[in-house]
Amino acid sequence: MSIRVAVPKESRTGERRVALVPEAVARLVKQGFEVRVQAGAGRGAFFDDRQYEGAGAELVPDATALWGTADILCKVQPPAAEEAERLAEGAILVGFLQPLRHPELVQQLAQRRITAFAMDMIPRITRAQSMDVLSSQATVAGYKGTLMAAELCPRFFPMLTTAAGTIRPARVLVLGAGVAGLQAIATARRLGAVVEAYDVRRAAREQVESLGARFLQVELDAEAEGGYARELTEEEKQREQALLWRSVEEADVVITTAQIPGRQAPLLITAKMVESMKPGAVVVDLAAESGGNCELTVPGERIQHGEVTVFGPLDLPSALPVHASEMYARNMVHFLALLAPGEGGAKVPALDWEDEILAGCVVTHAGEIRQPALREHLAGGDS
Ligand code: NAD
Repeated sequence: MSIRVAVPKESRTGERRVALVPEAVARLVKQGFEVRVQAGAGRGAFFDDRQYEGAGAELVPDATALWGTADILCKVQPPAAEEAERLAEGAILVGFLQPLRHPELVQQLAQRRITAFAMDMIPRITRAQSMDVLSSQATVAGYKGTLMAAELCPRFFPMLTTAAGTIRPARVLVLGAGVAGLQAIATARRLGAVVEAYDVRRAAREQVESLGARFLQVELDAEAEGGYARELTEEEKQREQALLWRSVEEADVVITTAQIPGRQAPLLITAKMVESMKPGAVVVDLAAESGGNCELTVPGERIQHGEVTVFGPLDLPSALPVHASEMYARNMVHFLALLAPGEGGAKVPALDWEDEILAGCVVTHAGEIRQPALREHLAGGDS
């Protein structure tokens, strides 16, 4: 019998993405998977049921039946407790699970003997690039966040030469030049802004400059394992803020994207720095989900501090659901190929724990929590 892949409708309020789009379903069906999709699952991202049927999926109106008969269930958001309860023992769950933020779910999945894979924990190695949901969704966030900043900004982004005079281009400062930051730079440049950017990893300089932005020089390099940034020392933090102050003061728009994996986002912009900004200036904090890079950020809210707007949008990829879903689904298809390697015909999930990708992102299997760091975190109760 073929492996049964199931795609439910996302239940979290405001989530518009879907884990597999029709194009991805067609590829899986061609590879020999049997794909079942909950009726209406793609509606939020404008993929209708007929497109799924055309791609070879079976539509299932009843969510309980869909969850209970899945060999592999593909999700975007972590499931709610009552959803996870519907999975059959031994089933595989794949999604953006963020296990550190959802300790009760992890315990529940282990108790129910679910094999759960967190797409957000896939190692950032070259072989896994095609499965890298952190990158694909950060690309969406960087783009959409910049458009939101342009919308809030009371000025044009581009330089304009018109009969009514010449308009100076907006000055955009991007803090953190990882995947989201680089996309923010590229988007602001396409809109014609003059862009400055900063990152604690020196390696980011070349990428920033290749996009036509100026890199702010700080005499520190905080690149750590895996190409991520490490947390700065107190003295380094002071130096960083002093360096940034002038650029923050001069910016019309600041877009912040700085993150440190598994930790609170670093504080880069203090309330005092915001108070020194120009009237009408805008801060869009794309790190709001992990606490924010600006002291005044309220996650999910747009606040006015004096004459400066500070916006901490949440769930940005969901605000561009068509392409965010398409990219996520492609990542998912590549990941499923690891679970069931080989072409066509009937397959059985083959979980090769020697594979560093599978071993790196498995959360629970056979009743156990498989990541030592996660086990320690849960045992410590500091969720
Ligand atoms: P991220 O979301 O963890 O962080 C965003 C950026 O914030 C990073 O560039 C980080 O250096 C920066 N940052 C952290 N603390 C800072 C501070 N105090 N001040 C200024 N900036 C700060 O990062 P990401 O976008 O997921 O990418 C992180 C790294 O992973 C990059 O080196 C990227 O090139 C690499 N990467 C590798 C692969 C791969 O090989 N498969 C895929 C994607 C990304």
